[in-house]
Amino acid sequence: MQKDNKIWDVIVIGGGASGMMAGVVSARRGKSVIILEKNKKLGEKLKITGGGRCNITNAEYDIHKFLEHYGKSKDFLFSPFSIFGVEDTFKFFESLGLPLVIEARKRAFPKSEKAYDVYDALKKELEKNKATIKTNIIVTKFIIINEKVVGVKTTDGSYFAKSFVLATGGLSHPETGSTGDGFRFLKDLGHKIEKPNPSVVPLEVSDKWVHELSGVTLSFMKITFYLDGKKQFSKTGKILFTHFGLSGPLILNSASYVGSLLQAGRVDAFIDAYPDTTLGDLEDKIVKIFDKNKNKILKNILKEIVPDGMTKAFEILIDKDILETKVHSIKKDDRKAIVLLLKNLKVHITNLMGYDRAVVVDGGLVLTEVNLKTMQSKIFDNLFITGDLLNINRQSGGFGLQICWTTGYIAGTNA
Ligand SMILES: Cc1cc2nc3c(=O)[nH]c(=O)nc-3n(C[C@H](O)[C@H](O)[C@H](O)COP(=O)(O)OP(=O)(O)OC[C@H]3O[C@@H](n4cnc5c(N)ncnc54)[C@H](O)[C@@H]3O)c2cc1C
Repeated sequence: MQKDNKIWDVIVIGGGASGMMAGVVSARRGKSVIILEKNKKLGEKLKITGGGRCNITNAEYDIHKFLEHYGKSKDFLFSPFSIFGVEDTFKFFESLGLPLVIEARKRAFPKSEKAYDVYDALKKELEKNKATIKTNIIVTKFIIINEKVVGVKTTDGSYFAKSFVLATGGLSHPETGSTGDGFRFLKDLGHKIEKPNPSVVPLEVSDKWVHELSGVTLSFMKITFYLDGKKQFSKTGKILFTHFGLSGPLILNSASYVGSLLQAGRVDAFIDAYPDTTLGDLEDKIVKIFDKNKNKILKNILKEIVPDGMTKAFEILIDKDILETKVHSIKKDDRKAIVLLLKNLKVHITNLMGYDRAVVVDGGLVLTEVNLKTMQSKIFDNLFITGDLLNINRQSGGFGLQICWTTGYIAGTNA
């Protein structure tokens, strides 16, 4: 069934971050644009980015330094970022009445601190430029005639256009609508898809004491990862304990590497809760606390020894008899063991968490199959591909959404 006789200039499939951007740019060029979106509303994932605050980009203005955050993909990205880079993103959102502010590690957020405002600004710009938005409609298939994409089949009939922007996202948080449909479409069209893998994702840990700390943040610690007992790498910063394991920016950005270690063998990590204090100084500090509290049982003074929020963990990790002992009766060796524990909390990493908890899922269309100056498919020149569908290794910190703004802008300019 043909929906109507209209042939649109541009059909955008998927109204997430990159689809909305592509829609705005095409509509501003005077093209007739329709966005077909599966959900009731556009931008459901965009609205939960950055914990609801939307880390919209990263204010690293040196393009070479910026691209360092995309791992192996960086060599492909110079040309698209020369067309629409970080400064263009700042100007673009400011032109929509959405000023940005820069926080630690150059992460940029809307001044209002509301991800919803990013969605709202893009949606209003789509409406202002007369783009048509159609929600609650699922694209199911491409229609190909004479080796050209001419239309799409949907749950609401067929739609036809001169150009198509495929912006259906990847596989992270599928409840927001990105269920991997685009990967399937691209495969059917003859494209090569690198297998999707959660890469910026929390770590699953088997130790009970970690689960008990769910919700606790250690704002300054050092974590060192080991493969089969051999030291691999360390990171220092903030860590978040959850009911399944470890999270927080530092963990998320280590996940890709930890994932490769997990393929190779057993992975353990040691957390140093006092990375800027030597073992000797920490022991002196604890001796002083013990001296001050001689007649109290250890359990009652744990709060003074361990970092904020971590008493529960030490109640599990320290032997019960020792916990109930008066501090003046604790043996020197047991005291030394507690000091050592504070600098070497062992956790066993069992897995990376899945798609449902991933911020970034690697994999997607291999970059050699797309013209990165136009975002055109190298198989179908009226098909443009954007955002999370592309096989780009991204880190957290605004680098995922910047890919969406850049590729969405370029697709919208050329579609
Ligand atoms: C929890 C979380 C927090 C994040 N925070 C940040 C952050 O702060 N900063 C950052 O840079 N990145 C962040 N990211 C990554 C960022 O959200 C993504 O890179 C970005 O949203 C991808 O945009 P997209 O346009 O490619 O796809 P999406 O935003 O996933 O949009 C795809 C759209 O296509 C629709 N769709 C799918 N299939 C069909 C179909 N068959 N028919 C019709 N419509 C369809 C979906 O419903 C969806 O609306 C975060 C990700 C997650 C999961």
